[in-house]
Amino acid sequence: MAQLDIHELSKSFDATEVIKGVNLTIEDHEFCVFLGPSGCGKSTMLRLIAGLEDVSAGRLQLAGRDITHLPAVKRNLAMVFQSYALYPHMNVRQNLSFALKLAGMAPDRIDAKVARTARTLGLEGLMERKPAALSGGQRQRVAIGRAIVREPELFLFDEPLSNLDAALRAQTRLEIARLHRELHATTIYVTHDQVEAMTLADKVVIFNGGRVEQVGAPLTLFQQPANRFVAAFLGMPQ
Ligand code: ADP
Ligand code: MG
Repeated sequence: MAQLDIHELSKSFDATEVIKGVNLTIEDHEFCVFLGPSGCGKSTMLRLIAGLEDVSAGRLQLAGRDITHLPAVKRNLAMVFQSYALYPHMNVRQNLSFALKLAGMAPDRIDAKVARTARTLGLEGLMERKPAALSGGQRQRVAIGRAIVREPELFLFDEPLSNLDAALRAQTRLEIARLHRELHATTIYVTHDQVEAMTLADKVVIFNGGRVEQVGAPLTLFQQPANRFVAAFLGMPQ
């Protein structure tokens, strides 16, 4: 069970509060999208969940365990960023293997997991290439593969498609949807793009100014926007 419970979560940078008492539950297996305008705190939310920032107040619980002050490496989650952040001096196989090696896994188990991940993502023909010899879409698939190979309890995506052109964006979006159907892992996906949100999400959380404006299934948000901000953000007539 990999439910994530967020309780009264706040974050300040110096004197400025950018996350303001967020309460939220992301259920096991759920594909949850954080949607909102630039600067509303989506990336900060993910970084707090990932342990890349210290929380100012509140609690985080993953699979029933309090992870609020657990170091990032001990949280069983994986994050995919908009920049690919691959190791440039390593080939695809080494990029996929690295975290498992660090964790001290036996080489034959690493090989099996890497082979399965490569199959899932169609990377088999690219294993000996360095990142510089890959297209943008291929790099992003390797970045997703690096997250999948660790079999985390929770996947975090921060605008993973924003560096891709329109055609690749559509294709990669379909791939992410397929992966979620296959792996069924609890996922939080950050975007400012409502098409991405509406096509991928089981549940959408609309953020504005560090607060949650509304939580609901895509259709519900359109049928029953909670307030003017949500209606306007979704482009509905006022
Ligand atoms: P989003 O991802 O929704 O665009 P962010 O989470 O990146 O928003 O930013 C939310 C707010 O927090 C913004 O006002 C941003 O300037 C501020 N912020 C983010 N990171 C830092 C930081 N390390 N130091 C100071 N302010 C930050
Ligand atoms: Mg962001």
